[in-house]
Amino acid sequence: MIERIILIGVTVASVGYFALAVRRRLAPMLSGKERNLPFDRCPSRLWTVFCEVMLQTRVIRERPLPGLLHALVMWGFFAFAWVSVEHFAVGFGLLDPDGVGHGWYGAFAAVWAVAVLAGIGGLSFRRFVLRPRALGETLSGTSALVAVHITVLMVTYLLDWGRLDPASPGWRVNWWVHAASLLGMLWLIPNSKHLHLVLAPVAIFFRGKGTSAMRPLRDDDDDDFGMLAFSDLSSKDVLDVHSCVECGRCTDNCPANLIGGSLDPKQIVLQLQKGLLAGGEVVAGDQPMVDRGAAWITEDDLFQCFTCGACEQACPVGIEHVGMKILDLRRGLVSEGRTANPKLTDMFNTMERAPHNAWGASHKVRAKLLESAGLPKYERSAEWLLWLGCGCSYDPHGHEVARAMQRILTAAGLSWGVLASETCCGEPARRAGNEYLYWELSEQVISALRANGVQKIVTCDPHCARMFDSDYRQQAEFAELGIEVVHHTELLASLVGSLSLQGREGRVTLHDPCYSARGRGVVEQPRQVLRALGADLREMRHHGERTLCCGAGGAQLFIADDSVEHPGGRANHLRFDEARRTGASTIATACPYCPIMLSDAAGHAGTGDVRVADVAELVAERLTDPAPADRASD
Ligand code: SF4
Ligand code: SF4
Repeated sequence: MIERIILIGVTVASVGYFALAVRRRLAPMLSGKERNLPFDRCPSRLWTVFCEVMLQTRVIRERPLPGLLHALVMWGFFAFAWVSVEHFAVGFGLLDPDGVGHGWYGAFAAVWAVAVLAGIGGLSFRRFVLRPRALGETLSGTSALVAVHITVLMVTYLLDWGRLDPASPGWRVNWWVHAASLLGMLWLIPNSKHLHLVLAPVAIFFRGKGTSAMRPLRDDDDDDFGMLAFSDLSSKDVLDVHSCVECGRCTDNCPANLIGGSLDPKQIVLQLQKGLLAGGEVVAGDQPMVDRGAAWITEDDLFQCFTCGACEQACPVGIEHVGMKILDLRRGLVSEGRTANPKLTDMFNTMERAPHNAWGASHKVRAKLLESAGLPKYERSAEWLLWLGCGCSYDPHGHEVARAMQRILTAAGLSWGVLASETCCGEPARRAGNEYLYWELSEQVISALRANGVQKIVTCDPHCARMFDSDYRQQAEFAELGIEVVHHTELLASLVGSLSLQGREGRVTLHDPCYSARGRGVVEQPRQVLRALGADLREMRHHGERTLCCGAGGAQLFIADDSVEHPGGRANHLRFDEARRTGASTIATACPYCPIMLSDAAGHAGTGDVRVADVAELVAERLTDPAPADRASD
């Protein structure tokens, strides 16, 4: 009887402590500026949770061997859920100890106990002996304790399953050790990264669509200028910072960190967690503020980000580092006028002056292209608007892509045109944190789209596609227009089968732009096009949704300080080296920014034998129809 009273006492104390500790951590979810959690797409969200939690797909895909070891532990937990229920039912006198642990389920759990021991042994060896850089320099005491608890749980189960006599003192001691280990986990979990056992499924369920999605500022809150203080963290942010398993997958995949920059997405999350727990006020500031403890994250780190989304893609627990945190913090700093970055100020000044593009180029450059290439003006009766974006409007290589699209769309017999009045969609401004400028520019663009009755947009710039399909849809004025938006590789994939093509492409590697592959999930379409051209397609180590950024995103094409040398070189050099190792003679891209970065890297490497070309250019070159200019001269 006394034993049973003790058991009730320690169980109530452990469960109570667990509930209070979790509540304390999650309390800021109820006081942040954005308390709404998204409940759209519920079936697809549940399916993602099933795949990533139950099947551990992302964990295994990112790091196959450690992922599999983790999966063994996780699946073992599921198998042991019923064992634990039976264990306490015996303790409370609800089940006869002679009646549990027999039959197929007892043997099934015993097999899983061995699998869990193998898993936890392998993970402990990796963490405490191999000590990979991603896990951090300091050894985690709680990780060691949790490993001990799990080991004790499995060993005591196996001893019991080996048929200890329930009447013997040995059985009783074994029972109590097992129970104490289980209850001890309730004291460990809420104060450690193992809280992810509880929160990860929830964070994964609420993860946004695509990577780097930004939250809209609240209409009903005049003080919402982005993230400045810890009280600005949204409910999802609070969930995220307490879900982190500190695995370092985000940092391992971060190009800014790979080249030796100080940006470390894992530390962004952990600093937010520490600041929140310590009752911090201001989230980010300059280095002196961080040094004297007045802020937790440096402005410099935030402005190194390429917004490529590799961190979010790799994260096994659904944490959104980019749009929800890094970009929201940039937005907060810029709104408050607290950034002293001269490159940033230059870009904003350039964009504020007519004709409002980050390139600082005159509208005449674009007008000349429209005239010399004979690009048709968009008419209401046309099916497609070819949105050139600033890249194809002002960059010389972008002009070639625009001409290529002209040939393809004409050969395909589509009705299409371009807007004479096209202006910047505001992408560099929003990614760099200038929400006000983004709103001004987006209003102009939406008015032009409305005035011209546009229904379908195809663009060669995945940054523009992302803006229209994600950022602009947050505005009712755009959403109500019901415009369909596609990246040009999506349209090319649907057209290529009907085009008359000649010759075969040689050895090609595809550099997937982050904003199409990760942002939109457009991975197969450009490959389909290249295969239709007969290309010998060679994949780089990072490809598809796991692509590596060229270094231009997040407005870095305009704001990066080229005088800063990182120990690991530059992101575009890193990417170009990967491309070169495939032995391909052509690097195909599908974004006007990437060729600028990769051609620069090719120049730096002194390599003249690798061509960088947009997928559209490769298609246009294989068309049997003559180019419009040739036709004109007939
Ligand atoms: S978005 Fe890319 S550059 Fe930015 S933190 Fe994530 S991985 Fe690093
Ligand atoms: S943010 Fe995600 S990927 Fe990065 S350390 Fe935490 S759990 Fe791992």
